[in-house]
Amino acid sequence: MKRQHIVAGNWKMNKSFEEGKDLAEAVAAGLNESDTIAILAPPFIHLSAVSMTVQQKLNLKLAAQNCHQEQGGAYTGEISIDMLKSVGVEYVILGHSERREYFGEEATLLAKKVDAVLAAGLKPIFCCGEKLPIREAGTHTELVSDQIKGALFHLSAEAFADVVIAYEPVWAIGTGVTASPEQAQEMHAVIRQLVAGQYGAEVADATTILYGGSVKPANAKELFSQPDVDGGLVGGASLKPDDFLAIIDSF
Ligand code: PEP
Repeated sequence: MKRQHIVAGNWKMNKSFEEGKDLAEAVAAGLNESDTIAILAPPFIHLSAVSMTVQQKLNLKLAAQNCHQEQGGAYTGEISIDMLKSVGVEYVILGHSERREYFGEEATLLAKKVDAVLAAGLKPIFCCGEKLPIREAGTHTELVSDQIKGALFHLSAEAFADVVIAYEPVWAIGTGVTASPEQAQEMHAVIRQLVAGQYGAEVADATTILYGGSVKPANAKELFSQPDVDGGLVGGASLKPDDFLAIIDSF
């Protein structure tokens, strides 16, 4: 398998139902056919409506922002992977720094979610990344490596092949401060090497590694031109169709 170019838009807890439908329609209408896969990750409640729109384009896919690790049952307020699958979801964002920070998600739980997503035939977009004090202390590569090892390295090479990794330095998320192309490349190369050490060079070369953290039209081209940056996970700029489309067109 070859690694892919992916640009995923994480809408977080934004947009009413009508606004969400309009945003998805605008992205679908403006999306050029290309090898780049564009992914929309709206809030759960908009997934089935956005799913209709996503079907209009071959290179447009649907993601959930989270899922529950159990198959179903007495988990009030939660959403199962089978429910997601039944409305056309193909990717699930896991381990986003906001899930880690506000909902206490860490390696043991994330490993269960990763397993459940893969078992259902969906693809996790696994987020990792350090907070500012860790970057300032110079221990970011260790921290990110531990996040990846703890939640992913129990997988077989075959299962791991369906995992997308998103490196998202927490200090760059929603702050307007972007990692420099060199900082992104450095960490992406570390991640690819780590994967090579565990699964071999072929698997590592085929692993899609996205950068996330204040990606916008003005910086996407330079970030995406780095040899180990295979695309982006985009928050704020994914809420504006023109910006999101410009980012997708930045390869
Ligand atoms: C994100 O939430 O994954 C993200 C990268 O947000 P932003 O693009 O707004 O920094």
